[in-house]
Amino acid sequence: MNKPALHWRILIALSLAFVIGITANYLTEGVGNKPVWFDNLEYGTRYLGTLFLNALKMVVVPLVTTSIICGIINVGGEKDFGRLGGKTLAFYATSGFFAVVTGLLCVNLLQPGKVEPELRATMLAQESAVHQDEIAGALENANDGFRSVLEIFQRMIPSNLFVAAAEGQLLGLIFFSLLLGFFISKLPENHRESQTRFWESFNAAILAITKFIIGFAPFGVFGLVTPTLMTTGTELFGVMGKFAVTVLLGLAIHAFFILPLLLKFVAREKPWKHFYAMSPALLTAFSTASSSATLPLTMECARKRAGVSHKVTSFTLPLGATVNMDGTALFECVVVVFLAQLFGIEMGLVTQFSVVLMALLTSIGVAGIPSASLVAIIVILNAVGFPEASIATGIGIVYVVDRILDMTRTAVNVFGDSCAAVVIGKSEGETDYYPENGATKS
Ligand code: ASP
Repeated sequence: MNKPALHWRILIALSLAFVIGITANYLTEGVGNKPVWFDNLEYGTRYLGTLFLNALKMVVVPLVTTSIICGIINVGGEKDFGRLGGKTLAFYATSGFFAVVTGLLCVNLLQPGKVEPELRATMLAQESAVHQDEIAGALENANDGFRSVLEIFQRMIPSNLFVAAAEGQLLGLIFFSLLLGFFISKLPENHRESQTRFWESFNAAILAITKFIIGFAPFGVFGLVTPTLMTTGTELFGVMGKFAVTVLLGLAIHAFFILPLLLKFVAREKPWKHFYAMSPALLTAFSTASSSATLPLTMECARKRAGVSHKVTSFTLPLGATVNMDGTALFECVVVVFLAQLFGIEMGLVTQFSVVLMALLTSIGVAGIPSASLVAIIVILNAVGFPEASIATGIGIVYVVDRILDMTRTAVNVFGDSCAAVVIGKSEGETDYYPENGATKS
């Protein structure tokens, strides 16, 4: 018997994780000392999840580096490079702008921060004490307001490449790889050829490892989602419901209307086919809450299942995983306005406009790792003049429901990147996307 397709296996794993995680949470609700079976189940599933996450992260640095270098060498001449780069950035800016405006509209219409005084008191009481240290640290760093927005871009040029790689600062790594690829393409022929052969075979080997790891995705997804649901449960939604609904609604509008419209009218492709092709990557993004860790799957799905060329994917996707975060930008916008409503801080149109701008800018610098945008939100709150005490309390409140929202916005981030690859690939004259019957392109 044939094994079901990868996305079905991931979906089954995800459903199992939901059932087991929520049941375990329900059975032990309110119990002070969790029973041994709960501890063991949590430890075991978390262990499995961490193995998978580690394996994905293990290939991210060589994958990003070799893909970008090969991509740039292939793009070759300055004219092609400029054209592809220009289109990619233009798409990222456009889709990001739509995302923040959607977020802004949702939060202004639904007004999740305008709540009854009792509910407000419960929300303030929910504030998680666990992360107060991190919040205090980030607050200190963000004290310079707008300058800290600029500092995010300083990371683009790392003083030490290996430290950037070790710390997962992909932006710096991408910048270096772009430079290296560009200057390899300018070398005299004999050097250029040997360098090209080296990087291409290195990239092929890394892609083979990636494919091998992806085979374990259903187990990994199960191991990542089960312990999260076991410990978080769903009861928090009662308190944070309206805020969470606002974020989820905004993300849904972006993922199910705006991006599909761009696919349909700019790329002239059927959006549902794209959802189907990218589903393993989207489910993994949802489970890991990390665009960077999902990048290996994003590249595999965009190439093999959607049929976008190596040339386009090796440029747009690694760049998109850090630079293009539609879901994150939307989320930042909603959180800032939500907290202003909650604390009764007046936010005029001009301030809201600067929030839009800062959400767009900071989402570029946010790392593709879980909860990374909370730091950017602190930076924005500081820049628009929130009192320090409200920032700490506000971020604490958002932390409470962040995980599930993080999972969803990361899936939207990854979907946005993959749409960019299709739109740009089509604009470069590529054809034959979405091979029929699940057949994959080699
Ligand atoms: N977790 C998100 C990502 O990896 C970043 C964030 O919004 O926190 O794309």
